[in-house]
Amino acid sequence: MSSKITIAIDGPAASGKTTVGEKLARQLGFLFFDTGIMYRAVTLAVLRSNLDPNAEIAVSELAGRVKIDVAPPGKDDGRLADVLLDGTDVTWDVRSREVEANVSIVSTYKGVRDAMTEQQRRIGARGNVVMVGRDIGTVVFPNADLKVFLEASAEERARRRYNELVNRGQAADYDQILASTRQRDEIDRNRVIAPLKPADDAVILDTDNVAIDDVVEAILSLMKERGLIERE
Ligand code: C5P
Repeated sequence: MSSKITIAIDGPAASGKTTVGEKLARQLGFLFFDTGIMYRAVTLAVLRSNLDPNAEIAVSELAGRVKIDVAPPGKDDGRLADVLLDGTDVTWDVRSREVEANVSIVSTYKGVRDAMTEQQRRIGARGNVVMVGRDIGTVVFPNADLKVFLEASAEERARRRYNELVNRGQAADYDQILASTRQRDEIDRNRVIAPLKPADDAVILDTDNVAIDDVVEAILSLMKERGLIERE
């Protein structure tokens, strides 16, 4: 097996990237890196500083200043990793509805994307990584060994998000989630810099009505076909 493999998984909100990517990384013994967390953490910093998310220059400056760390889980409460913003644990705060309502606007800014992309390339350069996001195959790692783009209908994705919140014991409103999912997609797909779209050489996998394990298996098969892992 080559020693520096990069797998890029992109797709819209709640398309299963995190669940699939985390399982795949665990099976391969690779690092799992969810880049959405970084954009969420910057957005939380913006809200906590009482900055207007529409103030591009001030938000970009803040993105260059904050320190975001992702570390192995320090608590057994369902988290996949600890998310630290300037040293403070914000793992669950970055999942709030307020962050979700503002993260796509913050993610359109060049200053924000440049700062995050640089950090993502640094972390990914170690190799043997499964990196998930919106622009990994197109911008962050255009030379990734395998690029996968996960698709699913907005209704299916909103259902998944709804179940996730309910399972965590939180209040959830399906219609509100569907509207917010659509709004985020709209901004992510139509932004000028690094829009959400499959890379030309990405493999598109539709995950509607497909079990997580089957998606992971499909990616492992693609890796075998390409000689990235050994066939058994
Ligand atoms: O994947 P997740 O839903 O956590 O991402 C939150 C938001 O962060 C996305 O809606 C998108 O606006 C932004 N994002 C991005 N580029 C990435 C990852 C996330 O713009 N690589």
